[in-house]
Amino acid sequence: MPLKRTLFEDDHELFRESVRSFVVKEVLPKRDQHRAKRLIDRDTWRKAGELGFLGLGVPAQYGGTDIDDFRFNAVLNEELARIGVGYASSIGIQVDIVAPYLIRLTTEEQKQRWLPGFCSGDIVTAIGMTEPEAGSDLAGLKTAAVRNGDGWIVNGSKTFITNGGNADLVVTAARTGGGPKGRGITLFGIEAGMEGFSRGRVLEKVGQHEADTAELFFNNVHVPDECVIGELDGGFKHMMEHLAQERMGSAITNISHARSAFDVTMQYVQDRNAFGRPIGTFQHNRFLLADLSTRLDVTQAYIDQCTLQHSQGELSPVDAAKAKWWSSEIQGQVIDACVQLHGGYGYMEEYEVAHQWMDARVTRIWAGSNEIMKEIIGRDLGLGDPR
Ligand SMILES: Cc1cc2nc3c(=O)[nH]c(=O)nc-3n(C[C@H](O)[C@H](O)[C@H](O)COP(=O)(O)OP(=O)(O)OC[C@H]3O[C@@H](n4cnc5c(N)ncnc54)[C@H](O)[C@@H]3O)c2cc1C
Repeated sequence: MPLKRTLFEDDHELFRESVRSFVVKEVLPKRDQHRAKRLIDRDTWRKAGELGFLGLGVPAQYGGTDIDDFRFNAVLNEELARIGVGYASSIGIQVDIVAPYLIRLTTEEQKQRWLPGFCSGDIVTAIGMTEPEAGSDLAGLKTAAVRNGDGWIVNGSKTFITNGGNADLVVTAARTGGGPKGRGITLFGIEAGMEGFSRGRVLEKVGQHEADTAELFFNNVHVPDECVIGELDGGFKHMMEHLAQERMGSAITNISHARSAFDVTMQYVQDRNAFGRPIGTFQHNRFLLADLSTRLDVTQAYIDQCTLQHSQGELSPVDAAKAKWWSSEIQGQVIDACVQLHGGYGYMEEYEVAHQWMDARVTRIWAGSNEIMKEIIGRDLGLGDPR
């Protein structure tokens, strides 16, 4: 049995039941279709909207649930991650990552224009930071917005954008001025249908096939002033302020996903026999499972504490960085061992653990790579680059 968790209250557990029922009734029956089409269909988004999952933290006057407690986001992430990291990341981009920008940085007119559709699933969103030449070094992004009349002309491209193939609104970072260290970057709400905004192919990823990760192109896109999000030239600061929540969403997903692989494997090792006995009864495997179970519990305790602090507005970016990198390493270790325990079947796509393994690899790379997380933690220890 896992360590008893104390993070959640009755309301969160009731919410979990409703997410679980959505997952079982609405998502799982379509998972093969989503994976084959590289897309979560719009009906599924709308169903999530109807159930209030997309409006977490959004004020009721704009169609949201008015619930501003990150523990509900955590529950949503945990339940979605159990059936595929792509679900948690696609919906998580909307609820954990884009929502704070649209709630905290927008004008009244923007709120009225975007938030009701955002909550209902009629407006699917994405965040466009990464470019072919600027990933970890986000301040080096080259997509440029040049002043033109009552707005801006945007040129450039983005890559690896989750929901990119389907998004109606992309919060896009573009350079509006010069200056080092990310000064002169502004966020724009670029809408589907704006002339000159196009999408490349949906990228063929190793895993998370349900998520439509895509390239985006901006060719002389005229973006009116009403689509500037937050402060002019303040985009880099805005992105940095919101990264802790992205990293916590990632950490919560990582450990829940690893736990689901462990659960699947626990069943498998009891059902599968070798040398006349269940493979889980060999001492080596029993010790291995004991090791994995311990890693999961210890990591979960840290993540729960970070989640609680984040829900109280007290989590530091450094602690979020620790949660992100550590949980993704544990996820990788646990799931790799789970594949091993499945033997050759673990390498077959018809076994869930094979998908879990494919889904998990990227979590050490995205949301700020683990090397960048260690840079953040190292700097906090006073060990910055002297140059
Ligand atoms: C499936 C998927 C979905 C994604 N979704 C989104 C999205 O929705 N929106 C978005 O904007 N981006 C998204 N990304 C992009 C993701 O955030 C980047 O891939 C990530 O930040 C790494 O950037 P990069 O790929 O350019 O690698 P690079 O920055 O080129 O890094 C290459 C390697 O060098 C290492 N490295 C770089 N700098 C340092 C350093 N200073 N010290 C030590 N090592 C270093 C990195 O850790 C990495 O191992 C997604 C990526 C993937 C794969």
